[in-house]
Amino acid sequence: MTVRVRFAPSPTGMFHVGGARSALQNWIYARQQGGVFVLRIEDTDAARNKPEWTEGILSALDWIGISRGSYEGPYFQSENAGEHRAAAARLYESGRAYYCDCTREDVQARTGSQYQGYDGYHRDRGLGPGPGHALRFRTPDEGATVVVDLIRGEPTFENKLIEDFVIARGDGSPVFLLANVVDDMTMGITHVIRAEEHLPNTPKQQLLWEALGVKPPIWAHVPVVVNEKRQKLSKRRDKVALEAYREEGYLAGAMRNYLMLLGWAPSGDREIVPWSVIEDEFRLDEVNPSPAFFDEKKLRAFNGEYIRALPVAEFVDACQPWLTGTGTIAPPPWQPEEFDADAFAAVAPLAQTRIAVLSEIVSNVDFLFLASPLIDEAAWTKTMKDGSAELLDDAVAAFEALESWDAESLKSTLEAVGAERGLKLGKTQAPVRVAVTGRTVGLPLFESLEVLGRERTLTRIRAARLRLV
Ligand code: GLU
Repeated sequence: MTVRVRFAPSPTGMFHVGGARSALQNWIYARQQGGVFVLRIEDTDAARNKPEWTEGILSALDWIGISRGSYEGPYFQSENAGEHRAAAARLYESGRAYYCDCTREDVQARTGSQYQGYDGYHRDRGLGPGPGHALRFRTPDEGATVVVDLIRGEPTFENKLIEDFVIARGDGSPVFLLANVVDDMTMGITHVIRAEEHLPNTPKQQLLWEALGVKPPIWAHVPVVVNEKRQKLSKRRDKVALEAYREEGYLAGAMRNYLMLLGWAPSGDREIVPWSVIEDEFRLDEVNPSPAFFDEKKLRAFNGEYIRALPVAEFVDACQPWLTGTGTIAPPPWQPEEFDADAFAAVAPLAQTRIAVLSEIVSNVDFLFLASPLIDEAAWTKTMKDGSAELLDDAVAAFEALESWDAESLKSTLEAVGAERGLKLGKTQAPVRVAVTGRTVGLPLFESLEVLGRERTLTRIRAARLRLV
């Protein structure tokens, strides 16, 4: 039997990190089993779907390594509508489903308002199809439905507690539960690996598989992803869109490594590992069923390590979208013609060790390209104290006299300027750094001055000095 798995997102919003995690788990499982990964877009909720969300899913998958053309699909659920209706009709004709025209109020009036589910009123009343008649599945009165789940063992659901649930609405349209099953059946899916949120649907869906005469798939419900307060990640409260992380400058490699650690870990004491190790070692049945904490701080730390591990040339390439403002990434504060690729290349290795996400590159290097630095006023006030004006005067004089404009000479020169005033280098360089870069933190100062050049450095220190008059 060839293993066939599917990833079946609904295009109703930005693609969620939890979705990316499920997609990767499906992807790896398929590879390990020599199987097939199918992408199905569940687009039947016409009111909430938008084509751009579908495009977002395809490009997000591509970004994390599930590239277009390397999987089967995308199929669209809406294209299979005929099969969904045919399955509903088969269930009705075989007596496994019946029509019902009860409103919620009818059911509540009969059963008391506490009653949570349908009471089976129309089970044996022989109501035929008609406008407003919903089709309900006749669940077995006895026995239990045992779900075989690679992560959760064999969750067992007593059939008598499963209500006769709706499979097609009053207008004849099949509901998600049925459409999803019929698609899995038509696509020959053998393993359904999906989010834990769907576990309550599973006994109902398994009953549908059985009623339609097809052996149900093996299930694997992967743990819900939660925030630091142990709340399920929500798009209204948490940063959940994969795209938001991409725009901030997370590397795809760091992201997918981190996502795979939600509920699982490679052997040894390792967390940051090459993708090939994850592909080898990941075991679906080792995934911890408890909620998985999405720790953005840890992800940031991961990303910093991935950035530092890049060859410098790749780091330079990876920064380009933020340096140029391509696609959906905000443009930098400098004009394109102000950018100097050689100057950037000169400081890139220094920046590479300091940033955790690629977007931080902009504030680290903007002083090199802007005609005058963006002054952080709070940093200015904090740094420019009594004596700063004189110190800047001395720095200008000493720098003007320098024969060789290199980091080492700049450093020893400024050190000497400070020593005359009994200041350590840290205190001496702070006003110079604010004058030249506008900030109190950033790349190593003397290397920065070397790249910025004598003339621009001196102009900036003089300008700062004038402000202090
Ligand atoms: N379309 C469903 C969702 O996005 C997935 C259902 C499934 O994986 O079975 O939640």
